[in-house]
Amino acid sequence: MPLQYLKGVGPKRAAALHEAGISAVRDLLNYYPFGYLDRSTVVRIGDLRNHVDTGKPVTVIGEVYRQEGRRSKRTRKLITFLTVRDENDYLTCVWFERAEWYKDAFEPGELLALAAKPTYDQMGRIQFVHPEFDRLKGAPEEDEPDWGRLFNTGSIIPKYSSSAQLAKAGLDSRGFRRILRQAVDRHADTIAETLSPKIVDQHDLLELRRAVREIHFPEDHTLLEHARRRLKFDELFYLQLMLAYRRKINREESKGISYELESSLARTLISALPFELTSAQQKVLREIADDMKSPRPMNRLLQGDVGSGKTIVALLSALVAADNGYQVAFMAPTEILAEQHYRSILQFVAPLPIEVRLLVGGQRKKARAEILEDIREGRAHIVVGTHALIEEGVKFRELGFVIIDEQHRFGVLQRNELRAKGLHPDVLVMTATPIPRTLSMTLYGDLDVSIIDELPAHRKPIRTAIRLDHQKERVYQFVRDEVAAGRQAYIVVPLIEESEKIDLKAATKEFDRLQKEVFPNLRLGLLHGRLSSADKEDVMRSFKEKDLDVLVATTVIEVGIDIPNASVMIIEDAERFGLSQLHQLRGRVGRGADQSYCILMADYGYFQRKKGVSADEAREEQDKARRRLETMVETTDGFKIAEVDLQLRGPGELFGTRQSGLPELRVANLQTDQDVLRDARAAAFHLVADDPELRSKENAMIRTHFTQHHKDQIALSSVG
Ligand code: ADP
Ligand code: MG
Repeated sequence: MPLQYLKGVGPKRAAALHEAGISAVRDLLNYYPFGYLDRSTVVRIGDLRNHVDTGKPVTVIGEVYRQEGRRSKRTRKLITFLTVRDENDYLTCVWFERAEWYKDAFEPGELLALAAKPTYDQMGRIQFVHPEFDRLKGAPEEDEPDWGRLFNTGSIIPKYSSSAQLAKAGLDSRGFRRILRQAVDRHADTIAETLSPKIVDQHDLLELRRAVREIHFPEDHTLLEHARRRLKFDELFYLQLMLAYRRKINREESKGISYELESSLARTLISALPFELTSAQQKVLREIADDMKSPRPMNRLLQGDVGSGKTIVALLSALVAADNGYQVAFMAPTEILAEQHYRSILQFVAPLPIEVRLLVGGQRKKARAEILEDIREGRAHIVVGTHALIEEGVKFRELGFVIIDEQHRFGVLQRNELRAKGLHPDVLVMTATPIPRTLSMTLYGDLDVSIIDELPAHRKPIRTAIRLDHQKERVYQFVRDEVAAGRQAYIVVPLIEESEKIDLKAATKEFDRLQKEVFPNLRLGLLHGRLSSADKEDVMRSFKEKDLDVLVATTVIEVGIDIPNASVMIIEDAERFGLSQLHQLRGRVGRGADQSYCILMADYGYFQRKKGVSADEAREEQDKARRRLETMVETTDGFKIAEVDLQLRGPGELFGTRQSGLPELRVANLQTDQDVLRDARAAAFHLVADDPELRSKENAMIRTHFTQHHKDQIALSSVG
């Protein structure tokens, strides 16, 4: 239905809407409010005393009468007081935070709706502390009662986001409200249902058209919540349905390789290992073996905290593939990590008739050509590399097994590109970043999951401490003591991408300072991303062979570096690092039998000194930093850390939507909607099991909706 059918939408508005991606009434109905103005609990200021201590927020409508900032006598901190009045009474609102901003935020006489839980101040007067507010501009309209009617409306009014351009065409929040009122009244009933009666019934959902009505113009809070849940369910259901199909397609694929599991290579390696596999490792190996034996291609995620021993599991599986005459590709996210995997694999397979090659960017032309030929001719059995592996010129003779380390740094597409170099190879994706359950259900919802939930025995939990600037010398002394006891240390300095050059200079300077002034008697090495591959390898080798005592490094060592003799990890300016990054860094120690330590050097003042940041933002940043560091001290459990990280940052920032294949959700929130997600996932997976072709009459609507709106997504990334 074209937009012009709506009263008040002429060519100009239609064009502005079109520009914003709204081209039909249907799109408009899908343009949900970002929030609501709650007039369902509007009370007069004079009646507020009946609402103190009810624990419920109420809304007051009043004109700005006076506003002033005052400094606290004790702390000198600015506090803003705002007095508003309705017909007969006055109410004071107080802001302790962001007081500077609130001091001049309102116009005298401006009409405001303010919502908060009323409390008493020290003098026993009623006040609002940090109320939410809305400006009620201009003359009242139909759905915005005028002064006389303000107090008995009982409605919840939607707020719509707008842009400068939309606003110019008269479509500010209020303009939207007007055209949506019409759209909902006249067209909501034509919305086609997208879920079967059975699912609607089973999960106690509103009908879709009712949900759309209520999301725009809620009758009350309960119905609004109901509407939200229905719309979230829809969004998550179709996402999970897509994953369910991907998984089904993959499971039914029978063109994969059916491996013979008896492998003398793997057997020989196991008996040569200097340790016993943990029972978690053995369990996971069995799961992988079952997949490898089956003719359907494996599509498995291997999760395990840093240091849990994923690499050896991957290698043993790789040897089974090699014994069956297939090649193995092992892709890592960084050169350093690829080189390290390469070296440790070389070491493990030294006694075996297995050829390993390394393929990364920046190798010499001649060497590279030889490596490529070895891969093409099948002389290379295991090829370790970075994304250089998925370049066009890389051709395998018979790629049968693909290992991808640290998956979320690669996109789904890259995963597929590597897979496409073989013929239905088995794929093992490894991640050391523990992923909260809600995210893994979505990010990896189509993969089978194996978890190594146990660290090798004899590992002592790493001790973690926060230290401040004035304690630095004691920390350095501690490093000297550990080195004297035969151990090694990392000192990590931050490298922030925005200004790599400047930071690199800072890192080099810090290295010089540490070497000359702090540790003149120790042997220090410097590792950073700008070194050539050969130089990086040199530094790492020296450290591994104990020719260096202390490795000063930027975050390039974040992933995977494995040197069991290193027992101290010092992270400078730890307040600037994200939680999962801190966890990864800490995971570089605690890999041997010795007690290991992680020392977080914190400089909380950093946020106050940062330019272009308001005092409040700085305080917020600082609070979050404190929370991150304290979490590190409290726990070494990667899953707990991931949960806190998710709370502090939200999934978008955590994974980077585009990169990771994390869907952009409009209504649902992976962080807070776990329950709905679980229900929607169960419903979707049941459906695919029950009626895979969606043939039954009652599923017809699902079929229609899915083929119209989602099918292309399966095709696009058909085998996840
Ligand atoms: P991850 O890749 O999971 O972070 P690694 O595979 O790098 O962990 O293993 C960490 C260290 O533990 C390596 O030095 C590895 O050789 C060793 N390791 C692996 N499995 C065991 C085990 N079962 N017992 C003792 N050490 C192990
Ligand atoms: Mg198989």
